[in-house]
Formats: sequence, structure tokens, C-alpha cells
Amino acid sequence: MNKQILLSTPHMGDRELEFVKEAFDTNWIAPVGPHVDAFEQEFCQVTGVSHAAALSSGTAALHLALQLIGVQSGDEVFCSTLTFVATANPITYLGAKPVFIDSDRTTWNMNPDLLREALFNRARTGKLPKAVVIVHLYGQSADIDPILEACNFYEIPLIEDAAESLGATYKERSPGTFGHIGIYSFNGNKIITTSGGGMLVSHDPELVAKARFLSTQARDPAPHYQHSSIGYNYRLSNVLAGIGRGQLRVLSDRVAARRRNFEIYASALGNLPGIEFMPEASFGHATRWLTCLTIDPTAFGADREQIRLVLAEQQIETRPVWKPLHLQPVFAESECIGGAVAEDLFAHGLCLPSGSNLTTEDLERVIQAMTAFHNHLQKTHTPLFIV
Ligand SMILES: *Cc1c(COP(=O)(O)O)cnc(C)c1O
Repeated sequence: MNKQILLSTPHMGDRELEFVKEAFDTNWIAPVGPHVDAFEQEFCQVTGVSHAAALSSGTAALHLALQLIGVQSGDEVFCSTLTFVATANPITYLGAKPVFIDSDRTTWNMNPDLLREALFNRARTGKLPKAVVIVHLYGQSADIDPILEACNFYEIPLIEDAAESLGATYKERSPGTFGHIGIYSFNGNKIITTSGGGMLVSHDPELVAKARFLSTQARDPAPHYQHSSIGYNYRLSNVLAGIGRGQLRVLSDRVAARRRNFEIYASALGNLPGIEFMPEASFGHATRWLTCLTIDPTAFGADREQIRLVLAEQQIETRPVWKPLHLQPVFAESECIGGAVAEDLFAHGLCLPSGSNLTTEDLERVIQAMTAFHNHLQKTHTPLFIV
């Protein structure tokens, strides 16, 4: 029986346990403490942002980001459609409505032309959104400059969901540090993890101070417990921040390992008919958090779902590319601007096992399974069945 090869699993370095032990030894077992402060400072050094607040999840960070920008019930927020549901859920926590925007083919991220056009049309009818949320998908930055330019022109704050793209670059800088607020995630499947956790960053110290305030139950400065606004319990634990400090020290190794996975897959599978890998945009460096490809079923002889099932039988976990949010039942009523590109990427896109801890043998098994399936299809001339 082969061991299971999973999509993306945690990969600890050498220092995490040391930092966790320090938290135990000093009894800082609380959502406050020296690791939380140090994790924030070290995160700023790594990403080049000025201020950061460590939180319990990326979703919590998005929730606070939207609230800090003033998103309220009835507002509209423009949001990438090709993403994980956690990008849009916090919009609805505040009673606001997401309006989804399609991707472009070169980055798989929000199409800047479509955004500019949509803002132009909305400005004419006086119905501009309260904020724009862009996603940096699968380790690749969106094309930030034209997006930021369009947002700035209409004075719409930009929130960057960089949950999947810590370690990437856009013109030598970290995606997540360009807009009003950026967020990151340290969930178990991300490039570095604290088991669960998130970070909210901004160049504006007041926004980040306010995020810390709201994340710790919005307690006014008074000797007794006094509250003038509604807060949340969203702060990161000092124990988990210790894990985060250890993980930050190996971030560049993790990026290199995931990029190496990609190189190995691309050179072994890139020539199979109908297979195309997610392109790397010229403006930066992708982390290849997940190696993603698209399958043209006519050329390959099987579609992405048939490939996924064949690999699953061999204990290899792959996943379809995110189902666009405008196709999700929960957002059936939401407006989407464009959508055909994201739909096509979902229909044909597959994510391969991509962990930084995969062995050469693991990668070889995935490659073997794909090529063997392709050879089998060629031999049997299996009549094509498109689902
Ligand atoms: C993982 C993820 C999130 C949510 O982060 P959590 O820490 O799991 O709450 C948000 N957006 C995207 C694009 C993600 O991949």
C-alpha cells in the first residue's frame, strides 16, 4: 500500500519548538506576550511593511480590515471571484454585498481592465463600491499597479488578500503591502503555518493599532472593564506566535522548495498534450504555493476530474482549482462582472501535491501516475467522455 501524498502539509523547521518551549517556560500561554510582539516585528522585516497585527486567522484579519475601512450594512465590495470562500465571507459578516470580478488569463488574478471599466461604469451611476478586495492566488501576485491606480482614481480603499502569497514578489516588493490593508494566513496548508493564525498589515500605524484594539474586545483605557465599541476575540496566541517566529526563519527555504516542485513537474509533464501550467507573470516571482495546471480534455484524452480520480486511486491528493465564488450556491444572488475566465480555469484547472516537504520519490510518483494514465489513454484510444 502506497503512502498518501497530500496536497500541502505543515513543514516545521528547527526553531519552532524552542520558541514554544520558551512560551511555556515563561508562562506566556495567552493571546498576548513577547512572541506576539516579536512575530509582528519580524513579519514587518520580512515583508517590508511598517506595521502588523497578529490575529487568530486570515479570515479574522479580513473581517477587521473591512470594518476598519468602514464597510457597513448595504455597502457593496468588489472582490475577486476566483478564490477561496474566506475572501468574501467577511464582507457578508458586515451585511455588505460582494460584487465579483473575473480573472485575467496571464495571472489568474483580478483583471485590472475589467476593474477599471466596472469602476468607471459605477462612477457614472453614482454607485461606487466601498472597497476593493483583490486576491494573490496560489502564490502569485495580482498585477497591483493598474489595480491600485484605478482604486486611487476613484478613492476606493484597496484590501489585499495575500493569504496564499507570502514570500512572493511584485516588482521586488511583497504583495499585501501595497494597498490600505493587507492580510496573510498561517493556516495549516499555507506556505508557513502556526496551525491557525493570520496577520493584518498596513503602512498606517493607526489602522493597525485599531486592529489590535478591536481584536482584544475593544477595551477602553480604564482600570475597570469599559467598552465604547463592539470588539472581537481575534488575537493570536503567544504559543502559536512562537511557531510563527520559527516558520518565518525558513520562509525562503519553503519558497525555494515549492518552486523546485513546480520545476520538476513542469519539465516532466509540460510536454504532455493538453497540459498547461499556471503562467508566471513577468512582474514578479511566484512562490508556486500550489503547482496548478489546466487540462484540455480533447488533447489529453481525459478531463481534470478523470485525472483527479485516477490519482486519488493511487493515494495522490489533487484538487480542482477554486470554484469561482459567483458559482457558489451561497452567492447565487450576487452580481459578477465577467466570469468566463474563472469558470474556464475551474473547469480545467487542477492543483498537484505541492508541499515543501515532498520527497523526490513523492514527486516521481505523481509524475508517473500522470504519464502512465496518458500512455494508457493513447493505447486504448478510450472514447472521450466529457462530463
Ligand atoms: C486560507 C485563505 C484565507 C483564510 O485564511 P484562514 O487563516 O484560514 O482564515 C483567505 N483567503 C484565501 C485566498 C485563502 O487561501
